[in-house]
Amino acid sequence: MNPVTERDLRASFVNCSKGEARRLGLPRDLAATPWADLDFLGWRDPGAPERAYLVAERGGGLTGVALRLAQDVRRSPTKSTLCSVCVTPHAGTGVALFTAPRVGAAGRQGNTVGVYMCADLACSLYVRGRKQTEAGTRFESLTAEEKVARAVANLDSFLGRVLDDTLANA
Ligand SMILES: [Zn+2]
Repeated sequence: MNPVTERDLRASFVNCSKGEARRLGLPRDLAATPWADLDFLGWRDPGAPERAYLVAERGGGLTGVALRLAQDVRRSPTKSTLCSVCVTPHAGTGVALFTAPRVGAAGRQGNTVGVYMCADLACSLYVRGRKQTEAGTRFESLTAEEKVARAVANLDSFLGRVLDDTLANA
């Protein structure tokens, strides 16, 4: 993705109030972000680890989504859990369940969308082999490009569900 400024990040959020977006904790070292290796910027709030955020390029603009940590997914050390976005296997608490309030009327009624995702939201780095998990790699006959495309598609469908404000789909 293209580098994003703090102002643009804060302006991108679709499912929290403007005040929240103004106050939320940004990544500690935004200047050191490896933008070229990212399909989206995801991070845990440095001051409130139960909060997480992700910002992605979508439809020619930026879409930012505020997430809450619903629960750490605890498994035995011998079992691994897959991230539903990048399909990377993680051991222990490497995958977490996050929930995102939906936009509009659905969100005001308390509707959320859940996603099991890399707890550090570093999906883009895992699919490119820039970051490894303790669970090791899972053999897949996909190229890095195909894994990236799959992660982007999975993220897009998650964002589509967050952006769907129709109560009928709640
Ligand atoms: Zn992931």
